[in-house]
Amino acid sequence: MSISIFQHTQKSYSEAVFARLGRGRQHAMQLYSEWFRQGSIDGIWNVVEPQAVKLVQEMAAATDFSLPELSGDKMEAETVKFLLRFSDGLESESVLIPMEAGKTLCLSSQVGCRMGCSFCETGKMGLIRHLTTREIVAQVFHARFKLGALVRNLVFMGMGEPLDNYEAVMQAVKVLTDPTGMGFGPSRITISTSGKVEEIYRLIDDADPALNLAVSVNAPSDEVRSKLMPVNHTWDMAALKEAMRAYCEHPRREILVEYVLIQGVNDALEHADLLAKYLEGLRVKVNLIPYNPQRRDRYLPPEDSAKEAFLQRMREKGYQTLLRGTKGQKIMAACGQLGNVEVRRELIKKRLVPSLNNFPQNEYSRT
Ligand code: SF4
Repeated sequence: MSISIFQHTQKSYSEAVFARLGRGRQHAMQLYSEWFRQGSIDGIWNVVEPQAVKLVQEMAAATDFSLPELSGDKMEAETVKFLLRFSDGLESESVLIPMEAGKTLCLSSQVGCRMGCSFCETGKMGLIRHLTTREIVAQVFHARFKLGALVRNLVFMGMGEPLDNYEAVMQAVKVLTDPTGMGFGPSRITISTSGKVEEIYRLIDDADPALNLAVSVNAPSDEVRSKLMPVNHTWDMAALKEAMRAYCEHPRREILVEYVLIQGVNDALEHADLLAKYLEGLRVKVNLIPYNPQRRDRYLPPEDSAKEAFLQRMREKGYQTLLRGTKGQKIMAACGQLGNVEVRRELIKKRLVPSLNNFPQNEYSRT
C-alpha cells in the first residue's frame, strides 16, 4: 500500500519511507517539504543530486499524493463553497471566507454529524462517516494550491463535530502545523465543539496552548440548551462550564463562546443577562451568530434591534463580544447551512447507510 503523504508529518513520513525502502530519510524530508510548500514535487528534480534521483523516484512511486476530486463549487460575493468527492462517493463541504487579510477556510471533519443540533442543516443528516486525516488535510491543500487561495486561518466549523473524530482531527492539526510543511501556526487554527466535555479535558493535555477552542453554548439555561442541542442531555451547562474553566487554567488559553441568536428562543435581554452570569469567572470572548435560514425552516433569524441590544448588553457586562456578519447564505455556505439531508436519503435508498432511526451512532440525535 502507498504511503499517504496527507496523513503524515515530515518526521513520520520520513520514518515510513525508511521502513519501506531501508534508506532515504533525508531525501524523504526534502520531498515532503517540496510537496506541502509548493503543491507539487516538480521542483525537486532541480535540486536533488544526480546520484539520488533514482532513490527519490522510488520514494515518490511509493507515496500516494492523490487528492480527492473537486465535485462542485459555488460563489457568493467572495465566499466560495467547494465540495471534494472521496473514493466512496461521499463528499465534504468546505468554505473559503474572505477576511481583511487573506481567507479563513472552514473545514469539515465528518460527512454529516450525529450531534443533532436543531438549528443546523448538517445535524439533520446524522453521521454518515468520519473523515480521515488525509481527507481533512486535502481540503486545505486544495484551497491553497488548486484554488490559489491565500489561506490565513483554519476553523473546524464545517460539517461535523471535530471532537467526535478526535484522533483524525488532532493528527490533521499536527500535519497542518508542521513547520517543514504547511506551517500554519497553532494560533491560526480553531477547533469548534458543541460541548463534548470528555474531549475538552483531553485537549487540555494534547493541544498546543495557542490552538483556539470555540464552544457553542447557544443558550442561557439548560432548559433552552437541551431543546437546541441534544448533547446537553449528556453534559449539562454546569459540566460544560467546569470543563471550560479547567481548559482556561493555562494562562495562554481562552475560549471563544459561540452563541447562535434565534428569534424568540434565546435572543432576549434576559437571556443575555443569564448568559453573562453563566460565563462569570471564565476567560472568554463571545461571538454572536445570527441564525441562518435552512432548507426547511424551523426558526427565524433575530430582528436587527434584538441583535444590537444583545450585543450591547454583553459588552456592558464586560465581555468582549462580536456580532458575526453573515456570508454565503444564498449558496448555503453560512454557519449551520452545510450538508443536505437529501444526501442521506439518497444513501439510504442505495442501502449504503442505515436509516437515521436505526443508526446507533446517532445517539445524540435522540432527544
Ligand atoms: S452545529 Fe456542529 S455539532 Fe451541531 S449538528 Fe451542526 S455540525 Fe454537528
